[in-house]
Amino acid sequence: MKSANLTDTRLSSPFSWRGDSFPPILDSETPNHLERIRELGIPTIFDIHTHFFPETIMKLIWRWFDNVNWAIGYRLPELERVKRLHHNGIKHFTTLNYAHKKEMASSLNDWTYANYQNWEGAIPFGTFYPEESVLAYVKKAVETYGFRGFKLHCEVSKLNLNDPELSDTFRYLEQKEIPILIHTGTAPLPGEFTGIQFFLPFMETYPKLNVIVAHMGAHEISAYASLLGRFPNLALDTTMVFVDFLATGKETEVDAAIPLLETYQNQIYFGSDFPNIPYHLNHPISKLLDLPISDLAKQKILYQNAKNRFFK
Ligand SMILES: [Zn+2]
Repeated sequence: MKSANLTDTRLSSPFSWRGDSFPPILDSETPNHLERIRELGIPTIFDIHTHFFPETIMKLIWRWFDNVNWAIGYRLPELERVKRLHHNGIKHFTTLNYAHKKEMASSLNDWTYANYQNWEGAIPFGTFYPEESVLAYVKKAVETYGFRGFKLHCEVSKLNLNDPELSDTFRYLEQKEIPILIHTGTAPLPGEFTGIQFFLPFMETYPKLNVIVAHMGAHEISAYASLLGRFPNLALDTTMVFVDFLATGKETEVDAAIPLLETYQNQIYFGSDFPNIPYHLNHPISKLLDLPISDLAKQKILYQNAKNRFFK
């Protein structure tokens, strides 16, 4: 798609933008954040929130985004997308996907396992869904496939974290210390089971579970962040929070969240939501680098925290 068309799409998005101009959507030849991260001693960026789906499902997802005028910055074939990550200094990234219904998660895991070795730098993540076979295929994903984490999407999957059908699986992952990245927040759209009122009882049931909350829990960032002191294995990802596109961040909420990055610098990960972002990757990275927080916090968020977790 030509960038002019994407600008039209962005103009008609129901989600608002900060400021009155859009960040570019196409990668520059040498993204200017590469020099900046080098100066900070960051060898490479670790993106905790990147999506990989089988082509047919990805196209359905893109159609959904098209219908809400959410421009897709990287609507490219899979291997081209991986090159774009590398081009932007992202040498480690996850393979997030999720099931929209029953009897889908296990085959998504099979697909990820069959393909992720073609994506240099990919950290394989699986998914699961409340259904009878869930513990069996999650064990297979961990013990046979060697997956390093799982992704759940409470809004799209209409998934209740407190569903008893998932409790054995959560206990298993808690004991194995395997992280689960969860879209539990109410942004960009609330769901039947999103929000802190579902998340808090879940954490109280599995207090040692390694959980990474997508989008910092927006639109309830402060409520989610208030749990970080109480649950040391809980973390947040910055995905789509400190950017000019305000689908997952309201201006006042985002500004109030900046000091949290300093306070909880060991429990925050950088995430982008690549490839489904209406701007190039330079934008979220530069915005994070521009924030008034310490260099140490930036190093940890962009690289070190994820490195410590996944390359022990
Ligand atoms: Zn996402």
